Amino acid sequence: MRADYIDKFRFQWTGGLKRLVEEGAWFRDAAYPYAATETCVGHSTISTGAFPATHGMVANAWWDRETQKLVTCTSDPNVKDVGYAGGSPSNPQVGDSAWRMAVPSFAEELKFQTGGATRIVTFSLKARASISMAGHKADAATWFDSGNWVTSSPYGVQPFIEEQAKTHPPKADFGKTWALSLPEKSYLYSDRALGAVPPDGWDLTFPHSLRGKTGAGGPDAAFYSQWASSPYADTALTELAEKAVDAMHLGQSSGTDFLAVGYSTVDYVGHAFGPRSREIQDILIRLDKDVANLLAHLDKAVGRGNYVVALSADHGVAPTPEDLQQTGFDSGLLHFPELQAKIEKALAPFNYPKPSVAFVNGSDIYFAPGVYDKLLHDHPAMQAVIEFAMSQPGAAAVYRADELKDRPATQSPLVRAFALNYFPGRSGDLFVAPKPYWLMDSTPAGKSRSYGAGHGVPYNYDQHVPVLFMGFGIQPGEYLPSITPADIAPTLAALCGITLAPRDGHILSDALKKPAKSSALVHP
Ligand SMILES: [Zn+2]
Repeated sequence: MRADYIDKFRFQWTGGLKRLVEEGAWFRDAAYPYAATETCVGHSTISTGAFPATHGMVANAWWDRETQKLVTCTSDPNVKDVGYAGGSPSNPQVGDSAWRMAVPSFAEELKFQTGGATRIVTFSLKARASISMAGHKADAATWFDSGNWVTSSPYGVQPFIEEQAKTHPPKADFGKTWALSLPEKSYLYSDRALGAVPPDGWDLTFPHSLRGKTGAGGPDAAFYSQWASSPYADTALTELAEKAVDAMHLGQSSGTDFLAVGYSTVDYVGHAFGPRSREIQDILIRLDKDVANLLAHLDKAVGRGNYVVALSADHGVAPTPEDLQQTGFDSGLLHFPELQAKIEKALAPFNYPKPSVAFVNGSDIYFAPGVYDKLLHDHPAMQAVIEFAMSQPGAAAVYRADELKDRPATQSPLVRAFALNYFPGRSGDLFVAPKPYWLMDSTPAGKSRSYGAGHGVPYNYDQHVPVLFMGFGIQPGEYLPSITPADIAPTLAALCGITLAPRDGHILSDALKKPAKSSALVHP
């Protein structure tokens, strides 16, 4: 969710997003300072109050040097995923957990420091969002996996989720239609978003019907990807969250409970249609209603002012290259398969293994074992690699791992961004920073790309996100200091009277109500 969606669309909101903006503390200049603006990294930063250089979740997936394989940030060979309502997880071999997250989440610290009275419950369409918000263990961490709600063995299984998965599975939304909520003239952008790549079975214009690839075959993979890109997925997550509040009596026992919802739909819609689309505008109108329902439910169950809400996003999104080019911007695709071929070519005259590049993952280039160490002492070969990489259209800079470790002091926002993202052993050997508005693209040669727009780079359109707080202990208002989403967890920790280990994020003390002398925040 880009921060500027609030500026552009809030005048049409009537529900929960409007309430957060108007009754809450709104930080207008919040941005991630690091490079890999992706789901796992953002959620881990929000949940731990640390940057990836500390929490270690450096990307959605990275090259594991030990096994010489790509691993996702949550993949765990020692646990098993478990499907609710008899659903089977898509990968029975590898489960998911937060074992790769190097520090505890705020929720885990809360539970630990308050003697276990806290319950931790998270929902999202994505494992990497649900798990990173929960932490290493939780009472429930639930996500969506090819048609089913699933969890994994380190997390609790809750009867109310089983019940919901049985009575209202995602496939119950088959045949529904997503139509515009408001009259056409209320939309900022024209229909047919330029450069859009909609989910299979959808065309570029409203209405979008959830009928899978052929329209008649029943729920198929295309249907589930349509569902995940539709308002119905946000509503399903909202219902699960409301049921959690009721079934577990969240907020009504002795401890402070933690409930997190990752509304992943905005991300899928952003990828498919880009930020300049009716789909983005409409999905936020629908999300505004879902958030209103959730807050109303909390008001009733817990009481207005007895809970605190923080809303943020894991990253923003860039417009599609086609849209930018049409407007006259310098934009394009930084094509990683070509870049990889160029690096091999650069090393061809030197004595290196073939291939020398083990994997290219986003900006991170991983060499075959031993190659980088040799390059560090082989100036002509390293120069050739960097020159060839820089010749790739869209490349703005190339950095070496040894320039980034230990967070060097620097005036360069790009070097700083890659350094804050650098975790030894997991991050790449070389890093290619794209030019602004150039999209990182890994589509193999000859194939058409499977998304319209993307994110993941150290520029404001991906880094600048909303940060809003509302409720207990929060001083409403608009706040202009520049902050980062790593400040969310320390601020919540301050409200709960606990301490987090990492020092990356800071308490947003301006937005905390100044305690009266007898307040619970001050011990007598
Ligand atoms: Zn995404």
